[in-house]
Amino acid sequence: MRYCEEIFQTKRRKTREVKVGSVGIGGGNPIRIQSMTTSNTRDIEATVLQILKLEQAGCEIARLTVQGIKEAESCEAIKSALIQKGCNMPLVADIHFYPPAAMKAVEFVDKIRINPGNFADKRALFIQKDYDDLSYSQELIKIEEAFTPLVEKCKLLNKALRIGTNHGSLSDRIMNRYGDTPQGMLESALEFATICRKNNYHDFVFSMKASNPLVMIKAYRLLSAKMLELDWDYPFHLGVTEAGEGEDGRIKSAIGIGSLLLDGIGDTIRVSLTEDPWAEIDPCQRIICWSNKKLAQKNIPFVETKRNITTLSKSPSVISPPLHPNGSVLIKISKKEFSQQDLSKESDLKPDLIWIEDAEDLPFTRITPSTLETALRSTPSFFLFSCKQGSFAHEGRRLFEFLHTHNIKVPIILYFEGQDLSWEDVVIQASAECGSLLIDGLFDGICLDVKGSYLDKKNLSFAIMQAARKRTTKTEFISCPGCGRTLFDLQSVSKRIRERTSHLPGVRIAIMGCIVNGPGEMADADFGYVGSRPGKIDLYIGKQCVEKNIDFDKADERLIDLIRSHGKWVEPINV
Ligand code: SF4
Repeated sequence: MRYCEEIFQTKRRKTREVKVGSVGIGGGNPIRIQSMTTSNTRDIEATVLQILKLEQAGCEIARLTVQGIKEAESCEAIKSALIQKGCNMPLVADIHFYPPAAMKAVEFVDKIRINPGNFADKRALFIQKDYDDLSYSQELIKIEEAFTPLVEKCKLLNKALRIGTNHGSLSDRIMNRYGDTPQGMLESALEFATICRKNNYHDFVFSMKASNPLVMIKAYRLLSAKMLELDWDYPFHLGVTEAGEGEDGRIKSAIGIGSLLLDGIGDTIRVSLTEDPWAEIDPCQRIICWSNKKLAQKNIPFVETKRNITTLSKSPSVISPPLHPNGSVLIKISKKEFSQQDLSKESDLKPDLIWIEDAEDLPFTRITPSTLETALRSTPSFFLFSCKQGSFAHEGRRLFEFLHTHNIKVPIILYFEGQDLSWEDVVIQASAECGSLLIDGLFDGICLDVKGSYLDKKNLSFAIMQAARKRTTKTEFISCPGCGRTLFDLQSVSKRIRERTSHLPGVRIAIMGCIVNGPGEMADADFGYVGSRPGKIDLYIGKQCVEKNIDFDKADERLIDLIRSHGKWVEPINV
C-alpha cells in the first residue's frame, strides 16, 4: 500500500485575454475582482460615489444596472464624471429583457452583460410545452436576430461581453428540453456563444451563477469540460448569486468560488452580498489570496468517485452521542472553556462530539498525509484528517482516492487547523477548504481548530455543513445583493425578516429586490418575498406567486402567516 505517489501542479485553466477597458480578464492576468452598484443608475452622483468607494476598496470592474434607454444614456455621464475624478474603472452594463438598452449602453461602457435566459426570451412561465426540432430551431433564429446586432456593435466598438447565465432565469424553451439543470445552463450559454463565434467575435466571458453552490459548481465544471472538448478558451466569471449576507453569504461564496479556483477554473470573481457593494471586496481579496497560495502547491487533479463508508459507530468519547449519518460536527475546546460552558442549556443544535483538549482515550486517530500509512494500522472509530502544510482540499481529494482504491471504509472527519488566522480568514478558508470537499460528497464531518469561542466554532461548523448541502440545521436565506432595480431597502428588510424567521430549521426563504431573475431563483426556496413595484411585495411558494401587490408595511406579517398556514412555523424559544 503506497500513499504518496505522483504529484502534479494544478494550474489555472489557460484562457485568452479579454480586455474590459484597460483591465484584462484571463490570459496571464491575476484573478480580477468585480462588484455592482446598488444606486439608481439615473442618479449620476450617487452612482459615481459608489464606484469611487468601490475603487478605494480594491474593486477592479464595476457593473451597473441598465433597464432602459435613460439608464443607458446615464452611463455616458457616469463615465465622464469618473474620468474627471481620475477614476478609470471599467464599467459593465447589466441588461435583462431589453436589447435596445444594450445597443445604447455599449457606446459608453466597456462591457455588456446579457442574460441568455431573458435577452430575447420572455420571462419563464414554467409551462410544459413540447418543442419539436422545427419550433426549437425557429426560436433559435429569433435569438440570433435579436443578439447579432449587439455582437456586431461590440465588435465594431471593441467592447467586451459577458454571457451571464443564471440558474434562476432559464427560458421555458431551455427548461422544457434540458430541465432546470446545469446542463440547461450550459446549453443556454452555448447558444449565445455560437452566435458570437459565427460573427468572428471572441471578446466574451462566461458565467454560470446559481444561489445553490452545488448547482453553481456543477455548471461551471460542465462548462469547463465543454470548453476542453471544443478547444475554446474563453475566461470565466465566478459567483454564487443571491448568497445573502454576513457569514452565511461569505461561506456560500467561499465554497462555490473557492472549489472552482482550486480546480484551476476562474478568471474574475464577484461575491454577491446583501450588504453595501464595497463590503464585497474584502471577501474577494481573501478568497483570491488563499487560492493563489493553494495553487502554488503541488496537488493532484480531482477524480470524482463515491466511497461507501461504514456507519459511524457510537464512540467511547468524552461526550458520546451517536455521530450523524449526514456528516458530523466536532468541537474542540479547552478544559477551562468546557467547565464554563453550560451545555445543558444548549438548544437543539448540539455538536456530535465535544473534544476536550488533553482528554485521553479519544475514539479517533489523527492523520496527516505523512502519517497516514502508520495510522491505518490502528483501528479507531474514525480518523481526523489534517493537512496544515499544503493544500488541504487537494490532499483530501488524494486521500479519498487512496481510501477508495484500497477499500478502506473508516469515516474521516476533516480537521481544519487555523489557530494563526483572523476570524475573517477562518470563515473564508475553513469554508473553502472543508466545504469544497464536503460539497463533492467526500468525507464525513468537520472539526475546526481555530481561535474563537465554543459558540462561534459551533455555529460556523454547522453553517459550513449547511452551505455544503450536507446537513440543514437552520433557516436558509437566499437574498439578492440589490442593484438599481431594487424596489425596497433590501438590507433592512432582510435583517427584519431574518430576525423573525431564523429559528426555522430546514425552511428556505428568498428575499429579492425585484423579479428580474425570475421566479426560478425561488425554485430552491420554500417561500419568496419579492419586490413587484414601488411599495408593493409579491409572495411566492416555490416558483408560484400566491399573493400579489401586498402593501409593503403588511408584507412581513403576511409572509409569516404564509409560513404558518403551510405548517412550517414554530414559535421561537424564549418568546
Ligand atoms: S433580483 Fe435583486 S440584484 Fe437582481 S436585478 Fe432584482 S434587485 Fe437587482
